[in-house]
Amino acid sequence: MGKIRVLDDATINKIAAGEVIERPSSVVKELIENSIDAGASDIRIEVTKAGKKQIRVIDNGCGMSKEDAAVSFLKHATSKIKNIDDIENVRTMGFRGEALSSISAVARVEIITKTKEELSGTKAVVHGGKLMGVTEAGAADGTIVAVEELFYNTPARKKYLKSDSTELAHIIDVVTGNALGHNNVSFTLLHNGNEILRSPSSQLLDTMLHIYGQEVARAMLPVYFESGIAKITGFVSKPTLTRGSLDLQSFYINDRNINSRAISFALRDGYGTLLPKGRFPVAVLKIYVDTGEVDVNVHPTKNQVRLSHEREICDTVAQAVKIALSQKTLIPDVNLHKQSLLYENAPDSPMVRETGTGFKVSMKDTERRLMRTERAGKDDRKSKLPMPEVKVLGQVDSLYIIAETKDGLMIIDQHAAHERVFYEQVRDSGRSDSQELIVPVNLELEPKEKVLMKECIPHLEDFGFRISEFGPDAFAVTAVPNVLGRLEDPELIHDIITDILSEGKVKDETGIFERVTKSIACRGALKAGADCSSSQLESLVEQLFRTENPYTCPHGRPTMVSFNRQELDKLFRRS
Ligand code: ADP
Ligand code: MG
Repeated sequence: MGKIRVLDDATINKIAAGEVIERPSSVVKELIENSIDAGASDIRIEVTKAGKKQIRVIDNGCGMSKEDAAVSFLKHATSKIKNIDDIENVRTMGFRGEALSSISAVARVEIITKTKEELSGTKAVVHGGKLMGVTEAGAADGTIVAVEELFYNTPARKKYLKSDSTELAHIIDVVTGNALGHNNVSFTLLHNGNEILRSPSSQLLDTMLHIYGQEVARAMLPVYFESGIAKITGFVSKPTLTRGSLDLQSFYINDRNINSRAISFALRDGYGTLLPKGRFPVAVLKIYVDTGEVDVNVHPTKNQVRLSHEREICDTVAQAVKIALSQKTLIPDVNLHKQSLLYENAPDSPMVRETGTGFKVSMKDTERRLMRTERAGKDDRKSKLPMPEVKVLGQVDSLYIIAETKDGLMIIDQHAAHERVFYEQVRDSGRSDSQELIVPVNLELEPKEKVLMKECIPHLEDFGFRISEFGPDAFAVTAVPNVLGRLEDPELIHDIITDILSEGKVKDETGIFERVTKSIACRGALKAGADCSSSQLESLVEQLFRTENPYTCPHGRPTMVSFNRQELDKLFRRS
């Protein structure tokens, strides 16, 4: 007998399920897409224990007949396409007939559904791919899919699930992505009975306001542009509102939420030189192309697509963004009286005060911080390395310090150098001293960040941050670690905290210490691009050589390169 065997259906289904259903958020994604395809205008997602215990998606869509409900979780059972040619023109989110079969292969699933035409509804129950029964049931128009004990029969996969807060964060991402993509549909997300996100059917900007808060929504510019190949609509942020990661960028092609580096680059292109280094704009961009232009069948989870004319489509995106940015004056609107949505329900809160401008670190801040480092540096008696003879000659492009050494030339990356100096200071200064802020900084966090925040507060407080929770899910920073001094730039504080949160769940004490130290050092360090006086540059170089590890920044990048006399001679072919 040969070695090759054709696997039985149950095994095939469990394998296939792994491509589509990796974690609770994949279930949520598939069920939401089914509700959207069913024409629902209201979708409610209820999860228990980050979806590990239960996921329920309730919609008011078209529902299924008894006959359809009974076959809906068979493999490749779909109402959306009839043959391969239809894939070319598919407008629905689903089309492979894979989701319900994959989900029910690895969980206990119950579907209760009713069409408008039928008088009573249907309940179908499937456990681990096995149909347990189809019965008549009282039901409202629409569909409820309840998924319990995900991966109960595939323990290996269950083991790979992450902590509740991480899994919940993935779910929030999925719901957010869909709510922004289908802003004409209402979404509600509940976790363990608590409402985490609600986004009523509305205009896109209003949906952004609900999800991202007022600070973000206010800084948005509308995008509308059509080329021969694509139509682009949506919103992008003014260059004054940026984030340290790509988290707040959502892209859609024909209403499908997709990940695309190419589009993210195109977005950046549209900003030209308007963005600070390492900062990313907030954007929701909806791209519409002929269905023939896009192959949606290249990835099991369908969040990547292949575009026949990617270059041209990306050019259109860049153009659209450029036009959006050129239409408004881009001078930061320094609005001292802005109040956040978060304040509205907390009139007695001490936070109802002005929070400053919220814009980029000003030169004054930068200088203040540099001076602080200088001061701290002078106090630092433990000289780590004998200071080499270095004579600062000047600065190039407000970023590189050029210096002469005993035997050649040295180029120092000012930002990296400052990061190293600041990092060791923060690290050595201990964790508990804190400095009260004159005006508490209100943190506008995304839903995902809020969840992680609760977990991180004790660790951040250990470190000298003081964070108060007021109202539902609203946080304010009332004190910062001493080493940050009177740092009151709300954006910087926001960045430090979101940097820390963006790495997900806190694993252990040393991990968080390292993370906080790096983030403070990086964000607090002199930004690339700042002009400094020559005495400031000299002082920085001197402090750098006093650090324990002057040659790399805390992220491992070099702080300096040097050329000795022979190397210079070689460059000029003198030797
Ligand atoms: P696909 O979405 O690719 O067609 P699924 O396995 O996700 O495959 O769903 C199978 C079929 O079940 C769908 O084609 C649809 O007819 C029906 N269905 C699933 N969910 C719903 C829902 N929420 N409302 C109405 N019909 C649904
Ligand atoms: Mg589907």
